[in-house]
Parts: sequence; C-alpha cells; structure tokens
Amino acid sequence: CGVFGIIGEPDAAAKTAFGLHALQHRGQEAAGICSFDGEHFHSHRGIGHVSRVFKSDKVINRLPGTSAIGHNRYSTSGDTVLRNVQPFYADLAFGGVAIAHNGNLTNAVTLRQRLVGEGSIFSSTSDTEVIVHLIARAAASSVEDRLIEAMRQVEGAYSLVALTAQGLVGMRDPFGIRPLVLGRQGGAMILASETCALDIIGAEYVRDIAPGEMIVIDRAGEIRSLQPFPPQQRQFCVFEYIYFARPDSVCEGLSVYGARKAIGRELALESHLPVDVVVPVPDSGVPAALGYAEESGVPFEFGIIRNHYVGRTFIQPTQKTRDLGVKRKHNANPAIVKDKRVLLVDDSIVRGTTSIKIVDMVRQAGAREVHMRISSPPTAWPCYYGIDTPERDRLLAARYDLDAMRDLLGVDSLHYISLDGLYRAVGEPGRDPGAHRFCDACFTGDYHQPLTDRDSGPGPE
Ligand code: 5GP
Ligand code: SF4
Ligand code: MG
Repeated sequence: CGVFGIIGEPDAAAKTAFGLHALQHRGQEAAGICSFDGEHFHSHRGIGHVSRVFKSDKVINRLPGTSAIGHNRYSTSGDTVLRNVQPFYADLAFGGVAIAHNGNLTNAVTLRQRLVGEGSIFSSTSDTEVIVHLIARAAASSVEDRLIEAMRQVEGAYSLVALTAQGLVGMRDPFGIRPLVLGRQGGAMILASETCALDIIGAEYVRDIAPGEMIVIDRAGEIRSLQPFPPQQRQFCVFEYIYFARPDSVCEGLSVYGARKAIGRELALESHLPVDVVVPVPDSGVPAALGYAEESGVPFEFGIIRNHYVGRTFIQPTQKTRDLGVKRKHNANPAIVKDKRVLLVDDSIVRGTTSIKIVDMVRQAGAREVHMRISSPPTAWPCYYGIDTPERDRLLAARYDLDAMRDLLGVDSLHYISLDGLYRAVGEPGRDPGAHRFCDACFTGDYHQPLTDRDSGPGPE
C-alpha cells in the first residue's frame, strides 16, 4: 500500500491526491483521503485508481482542512470491498482518529479473536481495523499514548500515518520493514511512503522515519520524535529495491534505480555468457537489464514492448485476471529478437505465469537462444509483511529446483542473483547470516519475527 499525510497546507486534500497519484504503483485496488478542518473529519474513499476515485475538484472540495491523510490499497488481507478501504476513521470517546496503514500484521487474526471475545464489533475484514479497536480499548488518555499502547501489541510490518484533532502522526514498526519518509514544503510537513510523492508536489525530503520511531507533528508545525519500542535489528524489505518501490524514489538513503542497476551489474558478473542482445521484461526488468548491459558490454534493446494501458498484472487479485492480464500486457519485438541470442532480464518469478509466456513469445518471434536472468533470488517463501505472494505450494521456486525451472520456462539458461550479490548491490559486503540488515524472508524463509497467526493462531484469513 501507499500512505501519505500532510499538515499545515491550505490545499491538504488536493496535495494528498497528488501524493497518492505518485504512489499508485503501491496499490491499485482502492484509494481514500481523510481530512480535518479544525472541527470535523471528512472522508472520501472508493474502489479503483486514484484518478478515478478523485476525478474532480468537486470531490476534493468536499475534503476541506489544512491536514489530510491518504491511502492506496493493495490487498494482502481482507477483500476489496468499500468497507475495507482506508483511511479508517473512528469517532472515539476521546476524539476522532483516522489511520492509513502500509504493511501486514502477523498477529491480526489472533488479536481480532481476542477483541471480538471482549465485545469489539468489527465492520471490516482488514487487519488495520484491529489497530483502531486496540486504540479504542487502550487505558492511556492521550491519543498518542493510546496509539503506542495499541502498536505495542501488534506484530509484523507497519508504516502508518494517523490524523487526529491535534495533528499528524507517523509510525514505523521497530524493524522498519516498510518505508516512510518525512518531507517539508514551506510551512507544511509531509509523511509519505516514498520520496517520489514528495517530488510530485515539489516538497523537499527531510529524512526517513527511523525504525520504531513515532513522529508527532502538531498544528503549529512542532515536531516531536519518540522511540516507544525497544531497538531491533533493522529489516527493511529488500524487495522494495528489487520491485516494489518506484525507481525514482530514494529509500533509506539508497536510490531504488541505482540499486536495480547495481543488481544487474552483479548478475552480469555472476553469470554472463555470449549473447547478442540484453532485453528487459518491461517495466520492472528495465533498470537491472541496463546494469547488466553496461557491465557486459552487450547492447540493450527493447525486444519486448509493453502495452501501457494495462496495469500491473500481479496486483489484480485472482489467477484468472492475472492469466488474461499478462497476454494483453507484453509483445515480442521481432525486429530485435529474430535470429538473436537473447538474454532476458526480469525482477522476479513468483508463479511463473509471466516468464513462461514471455519466453514463448520471444521464441515465436524467432529468437535463436533465450536466456533468463532474474534480479532477485528465487522466491521460495510467502511474504507475511505486506507483499502479496501466494502460499508456498504456488511458488515456482518452492516446487522446482533450478534445472527443472529452466526446463519448465523453456530457456537455454537461467540464473537468479545470489543473496550475496543482492546485498552487495544494496551497499553491504554480503549477507551476514547472523545480522543481515534487510528482510529477505521470501528468499530465505528466515522470518525475523514470530508468525503468530500462522503458527499458533487460527491461521491467516
Ligand atoms: P509471476 O508471473 O511469476 O507469477 O509473477 C512475476 C511477475 O510479477 C514479475 O514480472 C514481477 O515484475 C511481477 N510482480 C508484480 N507484483 C508483484 C509482487 O507483488 N510480487 C512479486 N514478486 N512480483 C510481482
Ligand atoms: Fe519484503 Fe520479502 Fe521480507 Fe516480504 S518477505 S518484507 S517481500 S523481503
Ligand atoms: Mg514484471
């Protein structure tokens, strides 16, 4: 998901809509904005892209106030129905609070059962509503302290923004799994999932919110930073660099585009062989393919053309729409691949749906050899922290070894970036198994927190 928040800005809702627009890649199912006008909260939420949900000034004008938060939804828990669309607003005894959350809680089902047992009535199936109920039931008196009390009970990944009558709050889980940055524009302060959302409104980047940090920005623009959780080994999601974040964003001080190119260079160093042309699977494979081409000296060409009027295939939630989606999305460019030894570069193979079709397409367009390079290690484990990977038995790399995958994809060679190569690309000497600074659980199965719902609870929804 994508989150955005702004305070001290006369056009708060409009700026939030722009921010969400820049964060569209983080979730395309639904969008929402909640504003506060000094007295009342106003909210508008809808299914679909930001440009559809906020298609006219009329909608924005119904969201007055100098502070607002917004959310783009990408579902990893709960269905895509309006009652699951964020921000969630609750009118609690001590005042209103609106919350927009990116990430996935790994004990949400367990907490929810407890809360229901204690009398809470849920109106959605989203794990974010658990946070709202925990805030409502907290013993502390200030909204801030209630939020801390609530978040001390949850496990998993969250980067969230909250809007209260007092101000804007930002919070990152103690492992810092999902991104969250602070920006400034004149007298306005901004929180956003990625720096590309600051760039779009011309705001300046101030800093990343630290893992486990809570930042409170009041209506006078006063900023307080709290560290309510015990420190943990940082576990920023390495997949943000590989695929999820936008290439023009800078996450934790590292350019996403630069990281992707560096992975491509590492791939070439690890596995180069004589080919005629390096071809990215667009768009996600482009920066890594550029890095590969630069390092190997092989020409980079657009041998696959992507239809830009089709959204990201993966994010549409059913297998049927995914199957249909990929066929509409890519075409091989015969002028580039015919009679050539083609080396394809893509970011990841999940179920294999994309790769099998792409390889077939490139062969049908006359390629003499087809080689595949992947800028992530094999995806062999599900993500429980906010990226929608399927269960293990659907993951190609969990079911087959490298040779079997090569044959199944129909490629002449297949190589995935090594874990050490990936860590080098993001500025580390390699992967230190005892103290790695990124979450890489979907590649290693090394989950850094207990998976309460999966292991001892009723199981994920
Ligand atoms: P597959 O077709 O193998 O199931 O999915 C892999 C493709 O989905 C890659 O081309 C990748 O760019 C794209 N993709 C889109 N969203 C996601 C996501 O959330 N996770 C992963 N791993 N890949 C995704
Ligand atoms: Fe990111 Fe993978 Fe960890 Fe999920 S499991 S947070 S996708 S690195
Ligand atoms: Mg892709």
